[in-house]
Amino acid sequence: MMKIRSFILPAAIALCIGALPAMARGPQGGPAASNPSAALSAEESATLLWMREEEKLAHDVYVALDAQWDLTILERIAASEQRHFDALGDKIEHYALIDPALPSEGAFSDPDLQGLFQALVEAGLESSTEALVVGATIEDLDIFDLLHAIEETDEAALKQTYEHLLEGSKNHLRAFVGQLRARGFDYAPQYIDPLLFDAIVGV
Ligand code: ZN
Ligand code: ZN
Repeated sequence: MMKIRSFILPAAIALCIGALPAMARGPQGGPAASNPSAALSAEESATLLWMREEEKLAHDVYVALDAQWDLTILERIAASEQRHFDALGDKIEHYALIDPALPSEGAFSDPDLQGLFQALVEAGLESSTEALVVGATIEDLDIFDLLHAIEETDEAALKQTYEHLLEGSKNHLRAFVGQLRARGFDYAPQYIDPLLFDAIVGV
């Protein structure tokens, strides 16, 4: 029988989710403009900026935890998060938005993400198993937020980028949970539906 490990989320994280724009949204109004930023609604823009910093969060947490535990999985997935972060940077540029990402590692424009970074790193420094739980938690949240983002947008190019990131996040979740299981632990999803979790990871 496996022990289930899950990182107990501080209130700040629930706030982050609450801060996400509502999933449902009416058909895009207004004339199609030559200005690309006009192609996105305020909600789509806010989600894109949030996802950009969320990819940075994943990267920066994995780098910080890899410095402590030197786990190949953290190093490998951090490199993948850098590519996710860059892909959203291209989209921000394309839509002529202002990039919220700060240059230094562990620094975030969004105060909720700043709090989340600190809580996740602190938890992951407890042990290398906790670091893997933190990894699974980040991917769980990332998949949850990406599903919202995909649902919300009707911009084909943006949807395609999110879908690409979603496939990456599923691979990352499988990798973290696989390593936890190899250590005799399991992970209980905290954001996504347990049925979806089982479909991604396998039982
Ligand atoms: Zn990612
Ligand atoms: Zn990931």
